[in-house]
Amino acid sequence: MEGTGRRFQGKVAVVTASTQGIGFAIAERLGLEGASVVVSSRRQKNVEEAVEKLRAKGIDVLGVACHVSSREQRRDLIQKTVNKYGGIDILVSNAAANPTVNPIVEVPEPVLDKLWEVNVKATILLVQDAAAHLSQESSIIIISSIAAYSPEASMAMYGVTKTALLGLTKALAAEMAPNTRVNTVAPGFVPTHFADFLVRNEDVKNSIEERTLLGRLGKTTDMASAVAFLASSDASYITGETLVVAGGLPSRL
Ligand code: NAP
Repeated sequence: MEGTGRRFQGKVAVVTASTQGIGFAIAERLGLEGASVVVSSRRQKNVEEAVEKLRAKGIDVLGVACHVSSREQRRDLIQKTVNKYGGIDILVSNAAANPTVNPIVEVPEPVLDKLWEVNVKATILLVQDAAAHLSQESSIIIISSIAAYSPEASMAMYGVTKTALLGLTKALAAEMAPNTRVNTVAPGFVPTHFADFLVRNEDVKNSIEERTLLGRLGKTTDMASAVAFLASSDASYITGETLVVAGGLPSRL
């Protein structure tokens, strides 16, 4: 992999929702750069497959099934990591749900609860569960979205939960300094299962590509390299920030 070094030799990285898509690419990149990685997602079968793929690349990996909204499963994820590796250097909160295309005024309360539970509350609780086990020079990276800046109609409430993560990043960075840096990556559009409308609908795909300055969709590896940068000592003076990785889609100044 071009530009891949060994910046994470001896480090331990926990990545949620990492059995496919962006999370898997993050786990792979951190692992190829020397980290021991802990992969997780809801389905045990997906966890086992991801573990196998990463091991085949020579990566030291532990797999633990974890639905991020389950207190028991989150604690199990952290405990198994600590039992095997002794602590955590890098924590990536990547899980999200996007269960509705309704305008906000029409989103039913149970759907609002799910969006808040998975996208925001689980991130906070995961950080709480991990806090006591984070090393002296640790790094938390939260995965937000370009939709955090100006939520599109079809993903309005999802976008608002992603906006909340930007505030969470600032607040956690202040609380957890100087030992733990807290930053966010805001991906643009990446064709994954989560964003399968990009794969299914050529017109939507083309119109998004045209709106980017770089003329293409994002790749999962684009997100992984941004996360690897923020997790590394190359970013040792960066905390409380959001890195937009969206090919130049409009975000903020
Ligand atoms: P993806 O390819 O669909 O992968 C989702 C992963 O999450 C799978 O491994 C899935 O495995 C796991 N998962 C789903 N719900 C979970 C839960 N409640 N607890 C634990 N694991 C769960 O998705 P992606 O596109 O990589 O998205 C990853 C992150 O990037 C999300 O935070 C998303 O908001 C963000 N993002 C994506 C895009 C995009 O265009 N793709 C753009 C901006 C931001 P199981 O089914 O086994 O649980």
